[in-house]
Amino acid sequence: MRKFKSPTILLSSCIEGQACRYDGSSSTCPFVMRLKPYAKWITVCPEVAIGLPIPRQTLRIISDKENNKRLVFSKTGEDVTEAMQAFSNTFLEELISKEVDGIILKGRSPSCGIKDVKMYENYGKASSMPKKTSGIFAEKLLENFSQIAIEDEGRLMNYTIREHFYTRIFTIAEFRGIKQKKSIKALIKFHSDNKYLLMAYSPANLKKLGKLVANNEKRDIENLLDVYEVYLNKALATAVGPMRNVNMLLHLFGYFSKNVSQHEKAFFLDNLESYGNKKVPFSVPLALIHGWVIRFENEYLMNQTIFEAFPADLTEVTDSGKGI
Ligand code: SF4
Repeated sequence: MRKFKSPTILLSSCIEGQACRYDGSSSTCPFVMRLKPYAKWITVCPEVAIGLPIPRQTLRIISDKENNKRLVFSKTGEDVTEAMQAFSNTFLEELISKEVDGIILKGRSPSCGIKDVKMYENYGKASSMPKKTSGIFAEKLLENFSQIAIEDEGRLMNYTIREHFYTRIFTIAEFRGIKQKKSIKALIKFHSDNKYLLMAYSPANLKKLGKLVANNEKRDIENLLDVYEVYLNKALATAVGPMRNVNMLLHLFGYFSKNVSQHEKAFFLDNLESYGNKKVPFSVPLALIHGWVIRFENEYLMNQTIFEAFPADLTEVTDSGKGI
């Protein structure tokens, strides 16, 4: 069993169960609850932080005459945009030193929602506009932390988005530990252990990262780790599609194709095709390869993070069915 470093996650307070919503209620997310013991948490309720009471009137986002977004009380139009922007700026400055690995915010909130937030023509009895937007606080996070995983709790209901989020936060948390060690040996091991995970995510960035680790440019270790981090974040930015996973699995299959029987080969390739056609999950062909890694005691592949990219307890096959 792999030992995982705990990622640091910023979370909207109401998702953690704090009763800070406009009506004095809280919210829950089963995936946040499950992730709780495996992460370190920083919670924030930006609306309470700017001095709004609990309970309070609802807020909404309107578009002013210059097409600027304003955060206003839905009934009265009282404008709290400046207060929210000032708080967000101060909060972000403090957050940078806390080395956050991921962010989970409350969806559809005019402060915290990362997308799908309704925008209105005005306060009062005004219609919502067809265009959706992000909340004022979330917008600042999206602008300043674009390199890390930011999701809302609604999107985490989607299986692919969730697995991608977990993979990113645990990989980045592991890399943070390497950065602290400032050791080329540790970086080489990290790169080696993540080879097939990175191959699935981004073969082009895997190549760049490999060249960096070779360090022909003789960078000092701090610079090398900083540049590696940039390309690692780039590599992990987009969820893996089936074709990239198939390609990576075929590379892994190459280790065993001469040692297994024709029947085993055919069974694996059938399952790989079914995965490519979205008839079985990724875990099916991956488990077949993993079985061979154990059976043939392949020491190198034994440590590949692709076989356990995040704690197994977090695996949950439920899916909202809504795409990315
Ligand atoms: S969505 Fe954000 S602002 Fe609204 S209650 Fe939750 S934490 Fe507070």
